[in-house]
Amino acid sequence: MTATAYVGIGANLGDAPATVRAALAALAALPGCRLQQVSSLYRSAPVDASGPDFINAVVMLETTCSPPELLTTLQGVEQIFGRQRPYPNAPRTLDLDLLLHGQTLLQTPALTLPHPRLHLRAFVLQPLLELAPGLVAPGLGPLQPHLAGTADQRVQRLAD
Ligand code: ADP
Ligand code: MG
Repeated sequence: MTATAYVGIGANLGDAPATVRAALAALAALPGCRLQQVSSLYRSAPVDASGPDFINAVVMLETTCSPPELLTTLQGVEQIFGRQRPYPNAPRTLDLDLLLHGQTLLQTPALTLPHPRLHLRAFVLQPLLELAPGLVAPGLGPLQPHLAGTADQRVQRLAD
């Protein structure tokens, strides 16, 4: 059984575009996953976080991993990129969020699906809807209408 999963990528330390591109290569090589789609890169102002602007992207994977397995795998990639958590919402080298895993609805201490802030963040919605304009998320419904609520957030799609 495979599931379609969407992963949000964010970086705001050092050469953030280079970090995101390297993360894309790492995601393309993950066991049990096939990278199917990659969004444009986006530049966004920090939300609930400090430091310079973020570079964001979203990818679509076909995966045989369960949701907890995929989260653990993504956290392993974060570790490889030297992510540290000196304090909550600190600037980060690489942040990988599991946005959606098929139709899974889950609320555990380690993992909430869909990602709890997915529909509130322009830097997630814009790349996600670029890949799947008609996307319907379990528990949330169609995502496109949520864009209007994020209109005050500064997000810019970067040229290819
Ligand atoms: P954020 O991504 O919100 O800025 P972190 O990346 O530090 O913050 O994540 C904090 C915790 O969120 C992680 O320990 C992880 O277990 C938990 N978490 C819950 N749901 C998810 C999800 N869908 N994707 C990624 N992490 C999640
Ligand atoms: Mg995260």
